[in-house]
Formats: sequence, C-alpha cells, structure tokens
Amino acid sequence: MNLTCRKVTEILVDFVDGSLPEEERDTLERHLCGCVPCAIYLRTYHDTIILTKSLPNVPLPPEFLTRLKTMFAKECGQQG
Ligand SMILES: [Zn+2]
Repeated sequence: MNLTCRKVTEILVDFVDGSLPEEERDTLERHLCGCVPCAIYLRTYHDTIILTKSLPNVPLPPEFLTRLKTMFAKECGQQG
C-alpha cells in the first residue's frame, strides 16, 4: 500500500488517538521513517495535543522543530 503525505495528514488523528488499524499504523510508521516532513508533522501534532491539554498558550520555538528532526533521525536510525 502506497501512503501519500496527504493521506498521512488524514489518518494522523486516528494514529495519535490509537484507533488506527494495525496494518495502516505499520504502513504509516514506515512512511514516517522515510519522510522527515511527515515525521516532524506527526511529532509536532502529537506534542501540540499534549501541550494544549496541559498548557493552553505555549508557543512552539524554532528550536523545537530542530529538536524534533534530530529525535526522528535517531528513532529511524538514519545517518545524516
Ligand atoms: Zn510524507
């Protein structure tokens, strides 16, 4: 199954709240390991939900995105 970046943004809600079927979740995770923009998007989306639940007015500093990029590079085992 080919997952487009557009489709990722559509199923992200289900992925984050855990209601996405396992097969789609697996496909999504593989896409995220090969697609940095989507990986960052997911992480930002996920963290934003958590932040907005606890702290309503937290701005996202530019450093935050850089940190996300680094985190995902590590999680996916990518070099450079
Ligand atoms: Zn993508």
